[in-house]
Amino acid sequence: MKLCIKCNNEKDGIHNSYCKACNNKQSAEYKQNNKEKVLERNKEYYQNNKEQIKEYYKEYYQDNKEARWEIRAKLSAIACQFSSAMPGLVAS
Ligand SMILES: [Zn+2]
Repeated sequence: MKLCIKCNNEKDGIHNSYCKACNNKQSAEYKQNNKEKVLERNKEYYQNNKEQIKEYYKEYYQDNKEARWEIRAKLSAIACQFSSAMPGLVAS
């Protein structure tokens, strides 16, 4: 049985050195300390997947026309993650 290198609790999964709890904490700290890097990576992700993301939103819109306002709220929440990297994607 593998143990977490941080708290010595049993962990599952062989790829991480930490258990789930420590891993979550670790990545939260990482995000906190690397906000700009994370943002940069989100931008990169968006740039590399622009077309798929747009298609996804288009389909999502079409399947859910009756609930536009709710969707818009959800979309802006998602759009926040990409910050200014995706101008014009969320229709005004
Ligand atoms: Zn742990």
